[in-house]
Amino acid sequence: MSRAAAVPLAPGVWRIPTTIGDLVNAFAFQDGDGTVTLVDAGLRWSRRRIRAGLRAIGAEPGDVRRVVVTHAHVDHAGGLLRLVADTGAEVASHEREAPYLREGRCPPSRRGRALKLPAVAVAEQFVHGTLLPVAGGLRVVHTPGHTPGHVSLLHEPTGVLVTGDALFNVRAISYSPGWMCTDPAVNRRSADQLGELSFDVVAFTHGAEIRHGAREAVRALLRGRQR
Ligand SMILES: [Zn+2]
Repeated sequence: MSRAAAVPLAPGVWRIPTTIGDLVNAFAFQDGDGTVTLVDAGLRWSRRRIRAGLRAIGAEPGDVRRVVVTHAHVDHAGGLLRLVADTGAEVASHEREAPYLREGRCPPSRRGRALKLPAVAVAEQFVHGTLLPVAGGLRVVHTPGHTPGHVSLLHEPTGVLVTGDALFNVRAISYSPGWMCTDPAVNRRSADQLGELSFDVVAFTHGAEIRHGAREAVRALLRGRQR
């Protein structure tokens, strides 16, 4: 298990663990001018690890200009308000996830109990197919089901796919657990679409990345689940 504060995935792309090990990950994308876009903000108490991750890539909090949020769950957006206060970054999310972030509540899940989040301003909303101007181009792939506005992100210059919670890689690659989802069947359909994309490295918000045979690993899971 890696203890690095930032794990390089490709030139200008890192995974930043926000808890111990690789259980909950954020990601950093660095532009040529040194500015940074973070994907996700970890838990409410993840600030120290995100700061350490930024230091490890030679960046300071003030270099973070944007935080792209995969979805409004406490382990991804719980630390968002503090991160915004620390950095002055603007928050970007899918248009269907933005209301939850603004109102400070998690989307409905099978678990039933609605969790709260610190409410935060969302400056930028995007949709499926948006190419964010992040380190040469970060493509938004809307993967609803885990939550209504959940997104995966494909960094086109390097072929790094961040699945978000559409797929987990805790012990083994799997769909996100149904009880966490707004609609598990929709999530499975979304995850199946990820296998159709072209990518070289697959990175997970939960679990370690797969660097070799990434697409084959994702497609093998999806084939195995097909009925
Ligand atoms: Zn989640």
